[in-house]
Amino acid sequence: MSSLLVRHASVLVSMDDHRREIVDGGLFIRDGFIEQIGPTAGLPQTADEILDLSDHILLPGLINTHHHFYQTLTRVVPAAQDANLFNWLKTLYPIWARMRPEDIRISTQTALAELALSGCTTASDHLYLFPNGSHLDDEILAAHQVGLRLHASRGSMSLGESKGGLPPDSVVEDEDSILKDSQRLIETYHDPTPGSMTQIVLAPCSPFSVTGDLMRQSAALARQYGVNLHTHLAETQDEESFCLQKFGYKPVAYMEQVSWIGPDVWFAHSVHVNTEEMRLYGRTGCGVAHCPTSNMRLASGIAPVMEMLKWGVKVGLGVDGSASNDGSHMLEEVRQTMLLARLNAGLHGASLSGEAAPALMTARQALELATRGGAAVLGRKDLGSLEVGKCADFFAVRLNHLTLAGGLHDPVAALIFCSPVHAEYTVVGGKFVVKEGKLVTLDRPRLIEQHNQAAKRLLNA
Ligand SMILES: [Zn+2]
Repeated sequence: MSSLLVRHASVLVSMDDHRREIVDGGLFIRDGFIEQIGPTAGLPQTADEILDLSDHILLPGLINTHHHFYQTLTRVVPAAQDANLFNWLKTLYPIWARMRPEDIRISTQTALAELALSGCTTASDHLYLFPNGSHLDDEILAAHQVGLRLHASRGSMSLGESKGGLPPDSVVEDEDSILKDSQRLIETYHDPTPGSMTQIVLAPCSPFSVTGDLMRQSAALARQYGVNLHTHLAETQDEESFCLQKFGYKPVAYMEQVSWIGPDVWFAHSVHVNTEEMRLYGRTGCGVAHCPTSNMRLASGIAPVMEMLKWGVKVGLGVDGSASNDGSHMLEEVRQTMLLARLNAGLHGASLSGEAAPALMTARQALELATRGGAAVLGRKDLGSLEVGKCADFFAVRLNHLTLAGGLHDPVAALIFCSPVHAEYTVVGGKFVVKEGKLVTLDRPRLIEQHNQAAKRLLNA
């Protein structure tokens, strides 16, 4: 039994059902779960460890619902800097094909370190190529050392160029091995209990890199074990043309054909979806990982997030892979979400003044997507808000940052409107991953050096 008392936070943002923001707030945590929450005066006076958060804002840990950790090795590759999705992929596939197990481990820790420093406590990652003897296990074990919760997607590609797919044949796997490995990973690592640190997700990569058969069989296997399903969907116009030409359906209709609709499914992007498709998501419980930076970087388009929310779609945020972002800063992603939704509203003629309710996303709405939204998308009832019985996952930011100066009349909004800052503390299940601005579980200079060496080797091979 161990306890942690967190007290005197200038503001505690609970994200509970009443969206309480508690002045001079705190938490009493026992064995990784929140036992009490409220004003400091009402909390116990002692604990095994005490964290004083005077002059800090305290928030629920951010949840990243879409990433490709390994892509931190291929940020800003010159030939892929100014390409759209399909050309970007074709440039990068051969470089990714050179990765070894140690590259997966190093890049996992780099991405998780960046995420932790930006307030993230749970990340979903989508790894879909396993060259040179690498496995999803390399990522999972590396993540265990860091201490963030991981939803590890067993990605896959089976439709190579010779069969009409986009990736070269050298990076695709045969479907029997994919399914066998998926089953092994679920049986080895998947933990569905409250407070789970590791869950497995089955995630064929995209309509243009796997067969319909693999989609169907992955869905059947996932449902047999009660694990979730994830893929890229409706990201670009190119993908829509591909689906119409190859399958005779638009991407969402194709998902219906292969039994990929339901509350256990979430899609990355969904930029190119119409009202009917959004209503289908809302009705059936399909979730969306909105990745605004990546969508801007690759000129994919603007996902209609405000309309999704109107139809009751579960929406979380994702930084997406670091070759299309090129960072893993969750607070920055929250800011981009708010700004891009506003641009979209403006482009569609939303009223910016007067009587009509302006359809502008607020800072708190954007923050809600990164917390409650992400938890809903990943199917985690134990995450997403600070409430009694939930996991003690939170982060705290110092309020005396230069970039926040002048905005402290509303520190919650300042955290999103102003330039993104780093977390001073990031805590997962009552354990520190970031303390006084430093990574507790990783040797940062050594990691950066190893990472740069690995990236150099991949690019110069
Ligand atoms: Zn992606």
